[in-house]
Amino acid sequence: MVKITFAGCGDAFGSGGRFNTCILVAAPDICFAIDFGASSLIALNALGISHNKIDVILLTHLHGDHCGGVSSLLLDAMLGARRETPLTIAGPKGTVAHLPKVQEALYPGSSAMTPKFDVEIIDMDVMKPHEIKGLKITTYPAIHTEATNPTSMRVEVAGKVIAYTGDSAWTQHMPELARGADLLISECYFFKKSVPFHMNYPDLIEHRDELQAKRIVLTHLGPEMLRHRYEIPEQCADDGLVIEL
Ligand SMILES: [Zn+2]
Ligand SMILES: [Zn+2]
Repeated sequence: MVKITFAGCGDAFGSGGRFNTCILVAAPDICFAIDFGASSLIALNALGISHNKIDVILLTHLHGDHCGGVSSLLLDAMLGARRETPLTIAGPKGTVAHLPKVQEALYPGSSAMTPKFDVEIIDMDVMKPHEIKGLKITTYPAIHTEATNPTSMRVEVAGKVIAYTGDSAWTQHMPELARGADLLISECYFFKKSVPFHMNYPDLIEHRDELQAKRIVLTHLGPEMLRHRYEIPEQCADDGLVIEL
């Protein structure tokens, strides 16, 4: 069984009191997180989940609400949580260079600390299969703030496929991303308005037939979308939502 916990499903600005994106996936042999935003450590603590159990963190892009919590996790893993097991962090192009800079900006002087556990940071090319600790990952180019090297992501674990649009406007790759997935997590930022660089409800309706996933959950809801969420048939995530595949 694969258990997916939406530790955080909010946007960048805490709309609706929601935490930044962090989707935790627990499979028989591995536990991994898809995205780890600035508030994700708080979100995990609120759920009583120890971050020490996370083997791999996958990042869709370099915005703070998707990767800004990694520094806090690493510091706590060294100081408070006393992690002993290896941690792999894989993200888009630029992740290897970006994460240490973020850490030193947020916690000046912290780069002098050396973890007692192995940390591996990996840049993943788009449109190529990657195998990391048994996870089969393919990332696709997304349409979002270009400097964040945005991607959509498809992950196969324990015979199940989880697909996530990341933050992105509709792309030609979305049908392939979603095809046959056991779960498609699609961002849905606005309800009526179609804003650039994001999937919005009008985009989802326009392309609904092209998204051939077994199940769809909407995430990253902004204030306007939150007000209308009960008017639509699609399932919307809440912080703490658990889905078992
Ligand atoms: Zn975001
Ligand atoms: Zn973003």
